[in-house]
Amino acid sequence: MTTRGTLYTVSAPSGAGKTSLVKALIDNTNAIQVSVSHTTRAMRPGEQDGINYHFVSQAAFLAMLEQTAFLEHAQVFDNFYGTSKQWVEDTLASGMDVILEIDWQGAQQIRKLLPETVGIFILPPSQATLRQRLTNRGQDEQAIIDRRMRDAKNEIEHYVESDYLIINDDFAVALAEFKAIITAERLKLGKQQNRHQTLLTSLLS
Ligand code: 5GP
Repeated sequence: MTTRGTLYTVSAPSGAGKTSLVKALIDNTNAIQVSVSHTTRAMRPGEQDGINYHFVSQAAFLAMLEQTAFLEHAQVFDNFYGTSKQWVEDTLASGMDVILEIDWQGAQQIRKLLPETVGIFILPPSQATLRQRLTNRGQDEQAIIDRRMRDAKNEIEHYVESDYLIINDDFAVALAEFKAIITAERLKLGKQQNRHQTLLTSLLS
């Protein structure tokens, strides 16, 4: 019998390095995938439809919402974002772990719906670093950066709702900590019992 995968939410203020950390983790870890959200926001330079997001019109998003196609959804920075219910269910059922890179509103909805979800929060080492990172990205206008700095504080307030907290100062350290969380969750007794049923039975016979 396949052991159901673990569901993770990863939240952070914009500019904390969440997307880079998730990408590095996925590239280096077996049996874990990141959900590609649907969004109504415009594509940024370098982004690809179906890779970074499924970019959809507001009408298409609202139609999916009507069909209860989303496990969770939220409005962030004037745009809608949602997680595909079917994809997450199918992927967890196949035994894969799933990461949802979502904001605090989505993480709250998921925790209510699936309390066994593991919540991870990523924070920058300082406000100055956060501003620097948002400026360096160079993909948004100054007004958007200023608004995101204000909204960052709102997101940061919700760090207490998570199970794990990573401070992303040194990227390599943060990545190692992220991997350690996944490893620890995989070693939990219930998961190991499912995975090693035959061994455990034979050791006790
Ligand atoms: P961005 O537009 O910069 O890619 O993302 C803006 C915010 O929306 C980030 O905090 C990101 O985590 C969040 N977000 C992305 N996809 C989803 C989603 O499917 N659901 C929710 N609730 N938030 C999302």
